[in-house]
Amino acid sequence: MHPIIIIGSGMAAYTLAREFRKLDKETALTIVTADDGDAYSKPMLSTALAQNKAPDQLVNARVESMREQLDAQILTHRQVLAIDATAKQVQLQDQTLVYSQLVLALGADPVRPQLAGDATDAVLSVNDLSDYARFRAAIVNAKRVAILGGGLIGCEFANDLATAGYQVDIVHPQAYPLERLLPEAAATALRDGLAKLGVTWHLQRMAVAVDHHGDNLIVSLNDGSSIETDAVLSAIGLRPRTQLAQNAGIHAGRGIRVNRQLQTNVPGIYAIGDCAEVEGHVLPYVLPLMAQARALAVTLSGTPTSVAYPAMPVVVKTPACPIAVAAPSVPDSATWAVDCQEDGICALYQDANGQLLGFALTGKATQQRQTLAKQLPPILAMQ
Ligand SMILES: Cc1cc2nc3c(=O)[nH]c(=O)nc-3n(C[C@H](O)[C@H](O)[C@H](O)COP(=O)(O)OP(=O)(O)OC[C@H]3O[C@@H](n4cnc5c(N)ncnc54)[C@H](O)[C@@H]3O)c2cc1C
Repeated sequence: MHPIIIIGSGMAAYTLAREFRKLDKETALTIVTADDGDAYSKPMLSTALAQNKAPDQLVNARVESMREQLDAQILTHRQVLAIDATAKQVQLQDQTLVYSQLVLALGADPVRPQLAGDATDAVLSVNDLSDYARFRAAIVNAKRVAILGGGLIGCEFANDLATAGYQVDIVHPQAYPLERLLPEAAATALRDGLAKLGVTWHLQRMAVAVDHHGDNLIVSLNDGSSIETDAVLSAIGLRPRTQLAQNAGIHAGRGIRVNRQLQTNVPGIYAIGDCAEVEGHVLPYVLPLMAQARALAVTLSGTPTSVAYPAMPVVVKTPACPIAVAAPSVPDSATWAVDCQEDGICALYQDANGQLLGFALTGKATQQRQTLAKQLPPILAMQ
């Protein structure tokens, strides 16, 4: 019997392998990963600088220990170059592996900003542990960091860097940070909370070029203004890794398209985590990937099982203005009812019948998130 092969060693892959081993201790499992296979918690990457954590300190388990824990073969620093869905093979640089079932847990790539200038190579992004190591090394003697993008990850890094003592500038094209998730009052509170920490906002502007200027970098903005800085961090979004799958005839939209059983259009090939689009939902967060991993583990061990998504609020790790948000999965004609108190904002997204469809909470109000989440409809109901 050929092994089940999982491509990737991020949280999705390792959670799946752990869940699978709870149900099946016999079937051979092979994990192929382009990175070093150490297990770490990716959400820690945007809170680690203020705690002065070295990359090694973010590792939860070394690859040797993962091999033992999961009773799995783990091939590290190995890129899967192609999938042959007919022969049930994956092609590495120097080896071909045959699988019984294949799981794609490929993650997502940071979107690179379109920039002119002679210093575009100096623009970094942080999406894994080795990125974090590179970024940390780049700012070790820096005082200033410019962040491109005031979304969730950009705001978390801004908070972390400012707390660590850096002078932070954020460039964001919209009038408010996190404008797609938050009503204006909550977004304003986040903006002001970070500003109070010393973060300088450049809203409704975009970076167009990054150039060297002596030892400094100059970020030029589309209104003619510029920022002098020591390092530039891009946080303008993530794009699910779909190319490997598409080259093998697997359907992709925004992510690799899978049904409720996490199966692609090719029987025996599944996708989970940041690379997956589950019935139209691309949710690049920890709770969805855990729900997927639990369901897929049962399917792989012989009982086809559908994933269910309850409402899954996201906590934005910005202590300067704590935020919890449950964005409605299908925006409709509902409206925000916003209650602003001195110690926090409670914004409820309700339809005409008073049904709660989403919420955004700041400050002390974030304590209500569990109670409110129970009132929300599921994103994908149990089948
Ligand atoms: C800074 C930051 C903070 C975050 N904070 C939060 C948070 O607070 N809460 C939350 O819910 N979510 C958070 N997230 C999102 C969450 O961390 C991700 O959803 C999750 O870690 C994705 O895991 P994954 O396994 O799908 O992808 P990844 O961790 O990206 O893993 C992908 C794996 O696939 C491998 N791979 C890719 N292509 C190939 C190939 N061709 N061959 C071999 N291997 C390959 C890679 O090497 C890697 O091992 C955060 C994300 C970031 C970047």
